[in-house]
Amino acid sequence: MANCAIVGINWGDEGKGRMVDLMTENYDVVVRFQGGGNAGHTVINEHGKFALHLLPSGIFRDGVVNILGNGVALDPESLVREMNEVVEKGVPLTPDNLKISERASLLLPWHRDMDELEERRLADKKYGSTKQGIAPFYSDKYQKKTVLAGELFYPEELRNHLRSLMEWKNLTLTKVYGAEPYTEQMIEDWLNNACEKIKPHVCDTGAFLKKAQKEGKNILFEAQLGSLRDLDYGIHPYTTSSNTMAAYAPIGSGLPSAKIEDVIGVVKAYSTCVGEGPFVCEMFGEEADKLREAGFEYGAKTGRPRRVGPLDIVATRYGVEVQAATCIALTKLDVLSYMDRIPVCTHYKLNGQIVDDFPFPVALAKSEPVVEYFDGWGTDISSCRKWEELPENARKYVLFVEKEIGCPIKYVSVGPERDSIIVRD
Ligand code: GDP
Repeated sequence: MANCAIVGINWGDEGKGRMVDLMTENYDVVVRFQGGGNAGHTVINEHGKFALHLLPSGIFRDGVVNILGNGVALDPESLVREMNEVVEKGVPLTPDNLKISERASLLLPWHRDMDELEERRLADKKYGSTKQGIAPFYSDKYQKKTVLAGELFYPEELRNHLRSLMEWKNLTLTKVYGAEPYTEQMIEDWLNNACEKIKPHVCDTGAFLKKAQKEGKNILFEAQLGSLRDLDYGIHPYTTSSNTMAAYAPIGSGLPSAKIEDVIGVVKAYSTCVGEGPFVCEMFGEEADKLREAGFEYGAKTGRPRRVGPLDIVATRYGVEVQAATCIALTKLDVLSYMDRIPVCTHYKLNGQIVDDFPFPVALAKSEPVVEYFDGWGTDISSCRKWEELPENARKYVLFVEKEIGCPIKYVSVGPERDSIIVRD
């Protein structure tokens, strides 16, 4: 079997976690290659319901090795919290099934403060950060002002390194933001608690992956967020601070030589977006409230109500292209069952012209949606397991989306549970 990446095509929250949980049956290794604990993957299986933030979604399968690659924002404190939640529900976590790259940079305690302080300074111009410290973390990573997880094995050098970083960061905290400085004792507490707990999992995951590749093991790469939040290809500056692209998976995972043959792009049957920034297809009022309730669209990390809209063909086609998706998983089709007419944003209107290519970020704010309607199917589809069992109008909707985005829809998800899936041949 080939290597596979599961990526988000849109704004995130498409249901990637649910797809990874399903697909891990066929894979030996699952790697998270970017992002941090700032978004959530919801997984429902025999152990219960979980909102995973940093842990790879393969953690629930016996025999699957889960890796946090060098590209992730490794926050020891939130990782330990998440590990405890999973262990409490009876899922075993050992250095054999959870490995952390020694080359992953650590999100330091002040990154969260920096996030909070900057959003507060921006006030009504804020980006809508989840305040998990992700943007300050990646800024510092690229300035080489953070530490690697592997440094935990060199305590003396690590303390010296952290001391000099703290002195540097305290200048910004106190002089720019007027906040309290960090002390050596605070760093010591952080090292002795969260860092000690993750240390047994830290190793050379690059060597592990190279060996796995040589042995012909199947590797699944799990992304966070979606194409439109990619640092380089997304809706700048309302993006995340990492690359959410399948093309980044080999770099961020620790296996730069990996070839990824299958890219499963996850698309929700309608659109949602958390935080600020242009969202051309956005619905408002009662229509939006109904869809939000039907899909239970509240952030897995923050509980924030998500902005909602119809499926956006223009944005989705762009997402499919930049991810080089080889097939699509269309999720939450069941949520649309209550609608008599199903809206789809088929084009944008910009400066009086119809456009089908996703506009430059600045022009998005001036774009308007062109919405067409499809007849609904008027019946619950959550127990359908075969393509032929879907009502004709549901099949028509799926086939229309498939044609417009130019990529085969192989999976149609009709519920959050592991087996609520239709696989098309
Ligand atoms: P991710 O970050 O891409 O993994 O997505 P989230 O976990 O934030 O959001 C997806 C949500 O939709 C979760 O609550 C899932 O349990 C749920 N979900 C996924 N697929 C389906 C589906 O086909 N139908 C329904 N009703 N819920 C789904």
